[in-house]
Amino acid sequence: MRFFGIILAALVAVPAQGEAIQQTKGSFEDKFRQLEEHLPTPNVYRTGSGAPGHAYWQQEVDYKIKVALDEHARTITGSETIVYQNNSPDTLTYLWLQLDQNRFSKHSDAYETMEMGGAEKKMRYTTLRYLARTEQQEWGFNLTRVQSAGADLNFAISDTMMRIDLPKPLKPGASFTFDIDWNYNIPEGKAMGARGGYQPYERDGNDVYFIAQWFPRLAAYTDLQGWEHKQFLGTGEFTLEFGDYDVEITVPGDHIVGSTGELQNAKDVLSKEQRDRLKKAETADRPVFVVTHEEALENEKEGSSSTKTWHFKADNVRDFAFASSRKFVWDAWGVKLPDSNRTVMAMSLYPDEAMPLWDKYSTQAIAHTLDTYSRYSFEYPYPVAWSVHGPIGGGMEYPMITSNGYPVEITKDKDGTEQRTYSRRTKYGLISVVIHEIGHIYFPMTVNTDERNWAWMDEGINSFLQSLAEREWEANYPARRAMTGGVIPYMTSPDQNPIMTQSDSIIGYGPNAYTKPAVALNILRETVMGRELFDFAFHEYSRRWKFKRPYPADFFRTMEDASAVDLDWFWRGWFYTTDHVDIAIKGVTHARINTGDPNVENPINREKDQKEKTYIGEMRDAQSGTQRRVDRFPDLLDFYNENDDFIVTEKQKKAYASKLKGLKDWEKELLKFGHELYFIEFENIGGLVMPLVLDVEYEDGSHEEVRVAAEIWRENAKTVSKLLVRNKAIKSVTLDPYNELADADVNNNSWPAKPVMSRVELYKRETSRNLMKEVLDGSAEMDKAPE
Ligand SMILES: [Zn+2]
Repeated sequence: MRFFGIILAALVAVPAQGEAIQQTKGSFEDKFRQLEEHLPTPNVYRTGSGAPGHAYWQQEVDYKIKVALDEHARTITGSETIVYQNNSPDTLTYLWLQLDQNRFSKHSDAYETMEMGGAEKKMRYTTLRYLARTEQQEWGFNLTRVQSAGADLNFAISDTMMRIDLPKPLKPGASFTFDIDWNYNIPEGKAMGARGGYQPYERDGNDVYFIAQWFPRLAAYTDLQGWEHKQFLGTGEFTLEFGDYDVEITVPGDHIVGSTGELQNAKDVLSKEQRDRLKKAETADRPVFVVTHEEALENEKEGSSSTKTWHFKADNVRDFAFASSRKFVWDAWGVKLPDSNRTVMAMSLYPDEAMPLWDKYSTQAIAHTLDTYSRYSFEYPYPVAWSVHGPIGGGMEYPMITSNGYPVEITKDKDGTEQRTYSRRTKYGLISVVIHEIGHIYFPMTVNTDERNWAWMDEGINSFLQSLAEREWEANYPARRAMTGGVIPYMTSPDQNPIMTQSDSIIGYGPNAYTKPAVALNILRETVMGRELFDFAFHEYSRRWKFKRPYPADFFRTMEDASAVDLDWFWRGWFYTTDHVDIAIKGVTHARINTGDPNVENPINREKDQKEKTYIGEMRDAQSGTQRRVDRFPDLLDFYNENDDFIVTEKQKKAYASKLKGLKDWEKELLKFGHELYFIEFENIGGLVMPLVLDVEYEDGSHEEVRVAAEIWRENAKTVSKLLVRNKAIKSVTLDPYNELADADVNNNSWPAKPVMSRVELYKRETSRNLMKEVLDGSAEMDKAPE
């Protein structure tokens, strides 16, 4: 999800890491130290290669739900039967469920620990609206029945978590069936910073509903963490168990419903014409309207007192959400997957207020995501993919269905004519958010990562894939997220923490969980591993963990295991520290091989000596024709005045001849090696060790791209020298010529140094306040006013 609402408290803790191995002499920093000491020990559930082990297990939870949406009361009333299948080797005595709606209660941890960050003088209207709504109404789940086989169950509620005590211990392999009835007030999505809810439309008085995190659902129980039941504070999303869903949704009779799963009773809820249009859409070459714009406008004019029940089934999903409104325009398009030839229905639901924009881009962006993500990871595993213009500002994902923002701007001209426009930001914002949220159906809805703990595993990996899809949409797509430059302000700021930080403690959720890992993975692909090795390893990670639950170590280990590239330094630097990239070219030394021949070397040394001895005083004396003593008494001149230290002596010649005699032919040959030697010295200012990417320009005008692996830093992470042996002279060297390293300071990236080009803007100094004039001008205006 990419919704940034109210910022919650962020506690920074310095991790107390094992210090068993320490550098206690000198200042050597081992940036290549292997990560094992920080990773969980491999076992039968998760192997050292990063793959699921032979005894890997996960729980299964199946739901049968009946739910009714009351649009007048804006409430949800539901009844569910849950079958919990214990596939773990452990006997369980209680179950934990998530009650996500409870986070809107004024007694919730989320609300009570909300920190205003010194905002006492200024507050956003939207923040006060959230505070006011929370105080004004009762929010959260109202549970009316918690039973198993007709008998009440003991349970306890702790904020957004609920423990159900099992009547008898649940053995490995056994299952437990129980029922919960509930209701709750639906929050207004934008006002409450919710991931679902309703959005009211003033013009016609109708709502758009996106109903999410709406039923009591089982928390995850895993081999690595036990129960995953950290409280829901609003930021760290969730992880759940896979299972099968059978859901009957009762809504006003004129509503259109989009949902996780496949519709079971089209005949009861869709007209013959709508069913025909859907059929046509399966094989059409572009999206087809199932409900047209005109029909939607007609539909929203009058309400309905009847109800209809839409029946959906979804297999092997880890959650369930749905959307409902009488305002919906509906377009659909069958997208054929290249490997299996299976057809996925890409569909969008949006009100008139989202046109013209959504009708052009939403379903196309879904199809584009299915096309690109399926190539980089695995084929889209579900039958449908929805993009709904929902009641939240950014976007939010659930299996097969996503809620996305970005409406058009509707204004009125002076003569009352309506104008509909959208900004560049809105256009690309919509395409990007659809790619992003549909992308989440792969990660984490299929590769079941845990955002309550590790936001980067779905937001970062998904933002990375999003950047690949965006680059395939059009050239120079304004993809803000994966550009290396975008992450530099965050990576150089003191207000940050490592990517490996639990979700709710992250400082700067956007740059930390989305941008930095997306940039890191792009660097891994383009600069460190190369596309071929990276893509193979990433496919392997996706394949291994599809419909399973990986943790960070499983990703780190798989990427190495499948590529034969030691990446511990990369994970360590980018994911475990707050170092940034700033590599400087400190200097270049140009050298040639010393021949040892006095006839060659002595004149070179003489020239060097003369250069070094150049001195302004001597120069001015010579210019002014100063008379020296030896000019007045020439007999003071002797041998040393006629011969400098660089004359070639017989002794030197003999020494050279005897040195040659002691050399083998191939050694003698090397003394004549005529190449130019360039020692380029680099300094690591930012802390992150990185590959060196150089554009070398030669005196003859030609260019060479030089790439040096990060391992050059393995013995000295602060300064290194790279030797280039070339048979032509170098004119200039530029570090990171294609902006791939996220280097924070480019002023030190060139030899010889280059000026930074800029434009200086002229401005006038502001005059100070003239109260007398202000009053006079004001009264002059007031005089005029009555005219
Ligand atoms: Zn996301």
